[in-house]
Amino acid sequence: MKPIALVTGGNRGIGRGIVLALARRGFDIAIADVVEADDTRRTRDEAEAHGARTTFVCADIADLSQHARIIDSAEALGGHVDVLVNNAGISVAQRGDVLDVSVESFDRVLDVNLRGTFFLTQAVARRMLETPSPNARSIITISSINAIIASPDRAEYCLAKTALSMMVKIFALRLGEAGIPVYEIRPGVIHTDMTAKAKEKYDRMIDEGLSPIRRWGEPDDIGRSVAALACAELPFVTGDALHVDGGLHIHKL
Ligand code: NDP
Repeated sequence: MKPIALVTGGNRGIGRGIVLALARRGFDIAIADVVEADDTRRTRDEAEAHGARTTFVCADIADLSQHARIIDSAEALGGHVDVLVNNAGISVAQRGDVLDVSVESFDRVLDVNLRGTFFLTQAVARRMLETPSPNARSIITISSINAIIASPDRAEYCLAKTALSMMVKIFALRLGEAGIPVYEIRPGVIHTDMTAKAKEKYDRMIDEGLSPIRRWGEPDDIGRSVAALACAELPFVTGDALHVDGGLHIHKL
C-alpha cells in the first residue's frame, strides 16, 4: 500500500510541483482545491502517469465545515493521510500601505492562510493519532520568506505567514512523541501565477542580486524539498523551517 499525501491547493503553481514530486516518489495523492479546472485534470493526469492514484475534492480550506470532506477524499484512496502538505494560500488582492489594509482583506487572508490551515492541521493530526500507520508520517506547511522578511505592502499576508511558523513549532511539540515530525518550508520568489503580477519587479531584483542564487525558484524546487521531508530524509528534525529561496534569507552587510 502506497503512502497517502493530502496536498491543499494542488491544482497549479507550487501545489502542482509538490503533487508531481510526491507522485514521482511513490505517493498516492489527494488534492484539495477551491475550484475544479483544466489545471486539475492536467495535474492529476501527470501524477497518474508517474504511477500515483489521485483523488480530487473541491473545497475552500477557509470553510471549516468542509474539512471532513477533504479528509474523506484522501481516505477514499484506501488508507489514512500519511503526509499533509498545507500549501493552499492566497496573497492580498491589492498591495498597499499598511494604513489602508481593510478588515475584509485582513479577514480573508487570515481565514485561508492561517485559520483554515490551523484547523485542517488539527483535524488531520487528530486522525493521525487515532490511526497508527506503518508509513513515515509528517505535516509540512508552506509558509513564505515573509514569515521572516517584512513586505510592508502585504501586511496581512506577512502576519499570517509568521503565525504559521509558530503553528509548526506547536504541532511539532504535540506530535513529536507520536513520531510525526512537523516542518515548515519558506519559499522565496517562486515562478507562479501568484508572483506573475510583480514579474518585472522581481526580474530586476533577481538580476541585481536579491538572492545569491540568481534565478527564480520553480515549483519543482519546492516539490523536491517537500518530497525529501515526506520521505523521512531528515529524521531527527522537527519544528524547523527549510528556506527554499536561493539564499534570499541571508542577511548581508
Ligand atoms: P497560486 O496562486 O499560484 O496557487 C495557489 C493554489 O491554491 C491554487 O490552486 C488555488 O486555487 C489554491 N487555493 C487558493 N485558496 C484556496 C482555498 N481557500 N482553499 C483551497 N485551495 C485554495 O500560488 P502559489 O503556488 O504561488 O503559492 C502556493 C503557496 O506557496 C501559498 O501558500 C503561498 O503563500 C506560498 N508561497 C508562494 C510564493 C511564490 O513566490 N509564489 C513564495 C512564498 C510562499 P485557485 O486555482 O482556485 O486559485
